Amino acid sequence: MTGKKVAAASLAAQAMGWIDPVTKAVVPPIHMASTYQRDEDNGYRSGRIYARADNPTFDQAEATLAALEGGAKAMVFSSGMSAATACFLALAPGDHVVVPKVMYWSLRNWLATFATQWGLAVEFVDAASTDAIAAAVQPGKTKLVWLETPANPTWAVSDIAAAAQIAHAAGALLAVDSTVATPVLTRPIEHGADIVMHSATKYLNGHSDIIAGALVGAREDAHWAKLRAIRAQLGTILGQTEAWLLMRGMRTLFPRVQWACRSAEALAQKFAAHPMIEQVLYPGLPSFAGHEAARKQMSGGFGGMLSVRVKGGEGLAIAAAARVELWKRATSLGGVESLIEHRASIEGPGTPCPPDLLRLSVGVEDSGDLYDDLDQALRRAHNS
Ligand SMILES: *Cc1c(COP(=O)(O)O)cnc(C)c1O
Repeated sequence: MTGKKVAAASLAAQAMGWIDPVTKAVVPPIHMASTYQRDEDNGYRSGRIYARADNPTFDQAEATLAALEGGAKAMVFSSGMSAATACFLALAPGDHVVVPKVMYWSLRNWLATFATQWGLAVEFVDAASTDAIAAAVQPGKTKLVWLETPANPTWAVSDIAAAAQIAHAAGALLAVDSTVATPVLTRPIEHGADIVMHSATKYLNGHSDIIAGALVGAREDAHWAKLRAIRAQLGTILGQTEAWLLMRGMRTLFPRVQWACRSAEALAQKFAAHPMIEQVLYPGLPSFAGHEAARKQMSGGFGGMLSVRVKGGEGLAIAAAARVELWKRATSLGGVESLIEHRASIEGPGTPCPPDLLRLSVGVEDSGDLYDDLDQALRRAHNS
């Protein structure tokens, strides 16, 4: 963009400063083509053959995300799930992987069913404990350690640098689902991670209007080439329009995340003192078990996600969620509108999620309005 090295927020706002060389447009076009003309000598000098491998509309989003994460390369996917599962499909049946007990529910299900049936030896551990990760890793046999931090829906924090040391000493890679932290708050590669994964559906896009995923690689090596091949072979690429919307959303990533962090912190403090709340789970609260680990690797805030445990249990939690007016009752997170969800009922039997827990995704509304709305819902639920 300029000769001077600028801050990440500036890179994001201007999508790396891209200007179209022909028209001088400040916004990249959408390339709809599925195929590319071959040269007269039968080559493909453009580097592009067929759009199941990639699409020029991805370029800006991928370059921007790689820069924000401090990685060598980024790849966008059709969803967070297709990005995450590519990391496990790049392994071989028989390989041992260490994954968190508390993590994004759909990925946990896939690991316990498809990945296990396919032959991966999947070991679920308490990933908030570095000792538990160290005890599970088997040198030579473990090929991947997976973290999610802060982790859905309790926001348990894993120490990325400690896990990277353990994984690498055993000859394994470390991948981090950083969907909730975003590169605004944590850059896992700086702490030793090899791969960063995002559900770009969430904060990166930020407007609840696309499904998208991304991987960022610390190095552009043989492993990265394998991940690229999996995306091209399975066709888990992002659509052109979605890629364009993702880049448009990422331009406001910093102000959205910074605003959400400030509001979430204020709400966590106020609900911690609320008579109808048993406990607030938020990495920014000094009383939170993972607060020290969070301080080590998060900067600029502790995220826009928190959970509250409602006094009186599951019935009152569901009754309070039924009475909100400003918060929207919906799954997902990281959008500009605030969402509330009774998580245990969507995760179903076997969930480690407490039944009295409401998950809150804080958007960019006024935080006083958000507090007042949940406060009135809790009081009405209590009195009903
Ligand atoms: C939503 C989510 C995913 C899955 O992403 P999709 O885009 O829905 O496929 C994975 N990890 C976390 C932490 C998520 O919140």
